[in-house]
Amino acid sequence: MTYQIDAAVCVGCGACAGNCPVSAIESKDDKCYAIKPDVCVSCGACESTCPVSAISQK
Ligand code: SF4
Ligand code: SF4
Repeated sequence: MTYQIDAAVCVGCGACAGNCPVSAIESKDDKCYAIKPDVCVSCGACESTCPVSAISQK
């Protein structure tokens, strides 16, 4: 199980990246962030941080 960011929903606020304990979230461009699956430890912190619910477990 990994967490993924829905690019169509993400508004690029950066809140998730600031809350990730292992810095697995990086900005791809001004409006979209992405989770590196090889770094993510599936803690779930980003999912509860996102104001627009763009992050979910796949
Ligand atoms: S689930 Fe945890 S480790 Fe994975 S990207 Fe989100 S905050 Fe980072
Ligand atoms: S917290 Fe949500 S809206 Fe903000 S950058 Fe992360 S995924 Fe995008």
